[in-house]
Amino acid sequence: MAIYDREAEQLDRDYLVQVQLERLQATLHRVYKNVKFYKRTFDRLGFLPEDCLSLEDLARLPFTTRHDLARSYPYEMFAVPLREVVRIHSSTGSPGNPIVMGYTARDLRNWAKLAARILTAAGVDRDDVVQVTLSYGLLTSAFGLHYGVELLGASVIPTGPGATHRQVQIMRDYRTTALISTPGYAMVIADTLEEMGLDAKELHLRVGLLAGEPWTEDMRRDIEDRLLLTAMDNYALSEAMGPGVAGECEHRQGMHLNEDHFLPEIIDPATGQVLPPGQLGELVLTTITREATPLVRFRTGDLCRLTYGPCPCGRTLARLSRIAGRTDNVVIVKGINIFPERVGQVLAGLVGEEPVYQLVIGRERQLDYLEIRIEVREGLFFDKMTAQREFLGKLNTKLTQGIGVTPRVKLVEPHSINRAAETSPLVIDLRH
Ligand SMILES: [Zn+2]
Repeated sequence: MAIYDREAEQLDRDYLVQVQLERLQATLHRVYKNVKFYKRTFDRLGFLPEDCLSLEDLARLPFTTRHDLARSYPYEMFAVPLREVVRIHSSTGSPGNPIVMGYTARDLRNWAKLAARILTAAGVDRDDVVQVTLSYGLLTSAFGLHYGVELLGASVIPTGPGATHRQVQIMRDYRTTALISTPGYAMVIADTLEEMGLDAKELHLRVGLLAGEPWTEDMRRDIEDRLLLTAMDNYALSEAMGPGVAGECEHRQGMHLNEDHFLPEIIDPATGQVLPPGQLGELVLTTITREATPLVRFRTGDLCRLTYGPCPCGRTLARLSRIAGRTDNVVIVKGINIFPERVGQVLAGLVGEEPVYQLVIGRERQLDYLEIRIEVREGLFFDKMTAQREFLGKLNTKLTQGIGVTPRVKLVEPHSINRAAETSPLVIDLRH
């Protein structure tokens, strides 16, 4: 199987470590000079960028969290002047402000190259016709892979999500060979195929690159059987760049992480201690080539393992296991990070106080849904049905804007949610 960038993906470990250290040192100098947040953090520790003499020295620095990024809204984490930024993305899912990511022209070139690595590892080549059903918008999801496909010289069909009947028609008529989607949406496509009385044999799908929400090996087999393709996992992290951070090769024994651009650590989420290779912990990434919004020791919140053993494909890059869960109570619905507290903020903004509420996440016909249960309270919801309906409509719109996913809103009896009790947590995830 092909390797997109043989030189970089098959670096000798000693040489890779040297490259990582040089890039890390340059990054630390840059953030110390240009990002007040890092200057303050380093100064507090009495740490100077030149104090970093080995990769192990990184562990002396504190973590960067999503809260730090949200607090720096909009441009405080930018390490370059705005005139050098050529693209801006943002995520809606933080507990406070959105997290804003900037890209210089060089950042975008790197992004496309790394996406091309992931696509090549998954088996996509220039003869493929690639349908991208992820969303084109403020989120990074579709764009990174889109430009990676173009860089490879394959054909990209930027359908975006939704209108599944039309997606299927395009897939059949344009002879799509590679599908880029969330695992859940791949299942919706399979269902729609059945509804339309079509057989997957009438399509030309060969490979699928799926990411954006937790999925299992069972789902993988199911998707492969129903769409007659090889389903490949990849890991995207919008704060670090977007898709292109890590992806599976044909051996599917973990996702090769582009370590020459992202320096990984696995930590104990409770103590913050760095764990030895192979242990399950929280992934922490330091970007070592990002120009516009570099990150030092960013806590991803994703639980996984990292292994450094040789892979039969010939790549020497470490491999990330399937994501085993989240360390915080962020829930991922339809590929979007949702902070439950954010729901409370939206509700408080609308009704003047935070009502008692609960999030229930489930999966129906392989599609994730989010249900928000809100306790009816005197003065909060009215007796008049018309007023209530109107209010619910408004609530739905505000919640959709605030969290990025359209929820089902369900009003429940007063005192039916007892948050203090173990039986009524803020979030109930029925998918696992
Ligand atoms: Zn491999």
